[in-house]
Amino acid sequence: MQQRYIDKAPDKFQVSEHSCCGCLQCMVVCAGVWGDEDSLNSAKIKVCRNTGDFYGYSIYFYSDCRSGCKLCAKWCPYGALQVKEV
Ligand code: SF4
Ligand code: SF4
Repeated sequence: MQQRYIDKAPDKFQVSEHSCCGCLQCMVVCAGVWGDEDSLNSAKIKVCRNTGDFYGYSIYFYSDCRSGCKLCAKWCPYGALQVKEV
């Protein structure tokens, strides 16, 4: 299996972690289209609940994200992922 690394955000996205509520809709749609719909770990995006003093969520993308598809941003109901205008 190809090794994946995580990237804070591909250039094509504006990420607003403070707007993320952890619904995981982005991971569900990505895994359903590009991975294994039964495993959220196969998504190319990862949303993690922060621990300690840092309330909220952190959002990461894996290096094999096909950022051209932008489905995660289209399906995010809270505007935490926005496609950058070019
Ligand atoms: S851009 Fe596409 S491949 Fe990348 S995380 Fe979003 S849905 Fe998954
Ligand atoms: S980025 Fe959007 S879709 Fe993904 S968990 Fe956060 S609020 Fe939900």
